[in-house]
Amino acid sequence: MMRKKIVAGNWKMNMNFDEGIKLIENIISKINMKASLVDKKDTGVILAPPFIILQKASELCFDNQMISIGSQNCSQHEKGAFTGEISAAMIKSTGANYVIIGHSERRKYFHENNETLSEKVKLVLENNLFPIFCCGEILSERKSGRHFEVVKKQLEETIFKFNKNDFQKIVLAYEPVWAIGTGVTASPEQAQEMHNFIRELIKNNFNKDIAEQTTILYGGSCNAKNASTLFANPDVDGGLIGGASLKADDFVDIIYSF
Ligand code: PEP
Repeated sequence: MMRKKIVAGNWKMNMNFDEGIKLIENIISKINMKASLVDKKDTGVILAPPFIILQKASELCFDNQMISIGSQNCSQHEKGAFTGEISAAMIKSTGANYVIIGHSERRKYFHENNETLSEKVKLVLENNLFPIFCCGEILSERKSGRHFEVVKKQLEETIFKFNKNDFQKIVLAYEPVWAIGTGVTASPEQAQEMHNFIRELIKNNFNKDIAEQTTILYGGSCNAKNASTLFANPDVDGGLIGGASLKADDFVDIIYSF
């Protein structure tokens, strides 16, 4: 079985309700236009809008074969007195299927560590949602040649602790932090090298079949111009797209970049 190719859009804290609905309607109509020309059944699209749009987004995409909905975060707690938080069960109840966990902005601004992230992944899985787990080094770590070691540790202290059955539900995203929102993209060689390294780690930690079937996305200033050279690499199975996911034309071009 070939692993799934995915293009996921992380909207971050952008789009109010009406803007978000318009963007989704635009994306759907552009995909429908392209779909009549090019068959893309092997590519999945995930939209991760803000929480307030999840339910309506799920309704709009309910009968679309290609598009699924995800949230950008969830609480590490199951329920209760955590004012302002959103639980995995609540996300599930909107009709969404995916949850981004461990985005570098969550790690940096909200101090989420490997322990918190593991708790979140556990709850996501318990609620029959699929985690999109992000990893990646900061610039100083790359400059000092520690990027492989850093990513290895991020994975070993979190998702590698889960059993095979659970691990197979996880989508990975390699996002070098120096490339996120900076306009500086990792070179196709840098992306391939790290994706291949991650796949080897999965093989050693689980087995070859699981490694071959794990979808590993690249994220970091991926856009309509550079997506095809990034996606052409054998171990790059698609992208997690920030800025360029907010424009329907660009995002749909990225989906059709394979
Ligand atoms: C992201 O936020 O996951 C991301 C990759 O952002 P950008 O595409 O804007 O660099």
